[in-house]
Amino acid sequence: MAVAEPQFDDLYREIILDHYRRPRNRGELTAATQRVEGVNPVCGDEIHLDLEIEDGTIQDVSFWGSGCSISQSSASMLTDRLKGCSIEEAERVMAKVRAMLMEGAAPDAEIGDLEALEGVAKLPVRVKCALLSWNVLQEGIRQASTAA
Ligand code: ZN
Repeated sequence: MAVAEPQFDDLYREIILDHYRRPRNRGELTAATQRVEGVNPVCGDEIHLDLEIEDGTIQDVSFWGSGCSISQSSASMLTDRLKGCSIEEAERVMAKVRAMLMEGAAPDAEIGDLEALEGVAKLPVRVKCALLSWNVLQEGIRQASTAA
């Protein structure tokens, strides 16, 4: 137990473990328009995101990677929540997830299952795990907007 574990209530722990054990949208996209990746050296987490962005909408998104349950379940929840969303909505959700994790803001209904990560906010070391996939997403969106 080298790294401190956040405290979660039972419902939240259940949601996180469910996404970790049965990741949603795992794998590669054959029609990806953006392929981005990132690492969190502190914990050894690695996340790859494939995005299919067309007409300002995330038509499809998938991920693969390795690392702790928080990093992997956060990525699974991200794909689950943002598949089919406009870039505008994705950026709004991203801002709300960051506010919850970095500033301890109360979870907003719009972020869906991601509210399960609320307890991570109290442990800065683990915030990096939860934010990894979101930083990767931001880079993907940036690339897409530069390419357009
Ligand atoms: Zn981690």
